[in-house]
Amino acid sequence: GLQCGIVGLPNVGKSTLFNALSNAKAEAANFPFCTIEPNVGVITVPDIRLNILEGLVSPQKVLPTVIEFVDIAGLVKGASKGEGLGNKFLANIREVDAIVHVIRCFEDDNVVHVAGSVDPVFDKEVIDNELQLKDLESVEKKISRLEKIAKSGDAKAKKDLAILSIYKEKLTAGFNARSIDVSEDDKQAVSDLQLLTAKPVIYVANVDETSINEGNQHVETLKEAVKNESAEVIMVSASIEAQIAELDSEERQMFLEEYGLEESGLNKLIKASYALLNLITYFTAGEKEVRAWTIKKGWKAPQAAGVIHTDFEKGFIKAEVIKLENYQTYKTEISCREAGKVSIEGKDYVVEDGDIMHFRFNV
Ligand code: GDP
Repeated sequence: GLQCGIVGLPNVGKSTLFNALSNAKAEAANFPFCTIEPNVGVITVPDIRLNILEGLVSPQKVLPTVIEFVDIAGLVKGASKGEGLGNKFLANIREVDAIVHVIRCFEDDNVVHVAGSVDPVFDKEVIDNELQLKDLESVEKKISRLEKIAKSGDAKAKKDLAILSIYKEKLTAGFNARSIDVSEDDKQAVSDLQLLTAKPVIYVANVDETSINEGNQHVETLKEAVKNESAEVIMVSASIEAQIAELDSEERQMFLEEYGLEESGLNKLIKASYALLNLITYFTAGEKEVRAWTIKKGWKAPQAAGVIHTDFEKGFIKAEVIKLENYQTYKTEISCREAGKVSIEGKDYVVEDGDIMHFRFNV
């Protein structure tokens, strides 16, 4: 499954957000280091199309896809040198598919700020620098390994060394690996290092309730600072999310309307994560279950089938595909078939977002 790691300085609202996300009601205390164990929360991905299919098929159960959020606390200045349980947390980050970087954009004199005042760009750079230092360590290790090989005249090692030295220079200068301008081919030279700052990132600007519609100066400053990173900045109010998490779905809708919000911050975050990672959803629909499956955009039918079961991929024969709008028009799979709205696709079919799939395979 997809895993997102929540990072950020202490006291920026990570636990509050994480607890809201995972619907847990653990305590968020007003002091740094209150969340010292990495927590994993699994949340289901809300998808209106699942509700539509449920209405049409009346299955025994409905299974949405899930995203795992890992609360990676304890990142402080000096983490790359092992401070504040640093190394343990950095190792956690290496495992995740994407980083959700929470940044404090709310003023509240009662909530201690580790650096004394609210300064989103400074905060972001503290975290970035720790990750960059860790990446620099990985890059330098590989450089010294390759230097030995290059001495014997190995051409590939020489070429990789040249690429690695670009990374070294940029990381040293305070750039994140994701913003370094090298070709996809050249990126191979660092792909084995799983650089932390190469991971896709979403910035979550945690604002107070009164700023949730208009934003505030802190959010503007942050947006300006990250505009060259091709990363999205999402405005969320962790305290609103915490309140939403306590409500049932009907109350939730009313609550959102009261605040003039179209959707929860959680929904925004999930959508942004999907877009960031180029993910799409296809569905399987039967009387037993209606289910959503997450795949990468561009995947062909056999690979998509493989997320259900590896046998589906290995023994793939063909896929029957119904578009959701046809399912809605003709109501049942049989009527779709009669109307010629079930297309038979082979192994080169590129699955589209929202496809309803039925795989045929050899066992
Ligand atoms: P963490 O250390 O990043 O996990 O931060 P926490 O989630 O524990 O939050 C630290 C403190 O800030 C807690 O007292 C929260 O109640 C408070 N807090 C979190 N988000 C907000 C917010 O949006 N507005 C205000 N005023 N306080 C918040």
